[in-house]
Amino acid sequence: MSDPKKAREKLSGAKRVVVKIGTNCLTDEDSKLEEKSIEKLADDIADLKEDGREVILVSSGAIGAGLGRLSFGEMPEDMKSLQAASTVGQGALMRRYSECFEEHGIHVAQILLTQEDLTAPSRFQNFKNTIRTLFKWSVVPIVNENDAVAVEEIRMGDNDPLSAFTASGAGADLLIMLTDVDGLHTGDPKEEESAEPIRTVEKITPEIEKLTEKSSESKFGGMYTKVQAAKIATDEGIPVVVADAEESNVLKKILAGEEIGTLFLAQK
Ligand code: GLU
Repeated sequence: MSDPKKAREKLSGAKRVVVKIGTNCLTDEDSKLEEKSIEKLADDIADLKEDGREVILVSSGAIGAGLGRLSFGEMPEDMKSLQAASTVGQGALMRRYSECFEEHGIHVAQILLTQEDLTAPSRFQNFKNTIRTLFKWSVVPIVNENDAVAVEEIRMGDNDPLSAFTASGAGADLLIMLTDVDGLHTGDPKEEESAEPIRTVEKITPEIEKLTEKSSESKFGGMYTKVQAAKIATDEGIPVVVADAEESNVLKKILAGEEIGTLFLAQK
């Protein structure tokens, strides 16, 4: 058993960090963009940049924001509407990010990806080249799925796997997934009062995976997809922290080695 405190402290050395945030942290119950949440995230990321770190943001919220703008009362069931809604929401989402990061003098870039872009070697290489160049320019790349054309990913729900592939492609030292609960628990914290947080996951065993099967915490995915994504990243040697987006200075605290959320240890 490795020392969890030391493993946390080591996070402070992460130079390149991928931060992923889900729809439920960015939109309210009417699917309107939560201005304050986006502002907070930009502030938190600006702090990391000030410390000299490179940050990629993987942001969901396009479909949600699109549905909000079009004033859909209920979420449509059909894929075509979700895809079309994403194209309405993505622009609104990026505008808000752009405004909030400009407050810190930071430029942002939009990258929309599909599964093929991550698996076809030449496309993947181009993605890596673009990221590298943006880092040179000190720009924050904001990645989302290209939902207008990527049906599989929407159905799979959530950008969690995308964030793991992005972290691996970008050679990140750390992946942080922000959500609406304080990490992995022994049960669903929204339904079971007795559910206890698990602060360190040494290895993602079948027992750990079993804990995530019933999680109800998001509209699109939940703890299940987060743990699956953590498996991809930790197998690539990238530690993963799942934490609560609403925690104050959440990114700074994680990078300072504070014991918040759940840390999944890198496997190599
Ligand atoms: N790409 C989708 C969006 O931006 C992801 C949906 C989600 O993960 O919440 O809406």
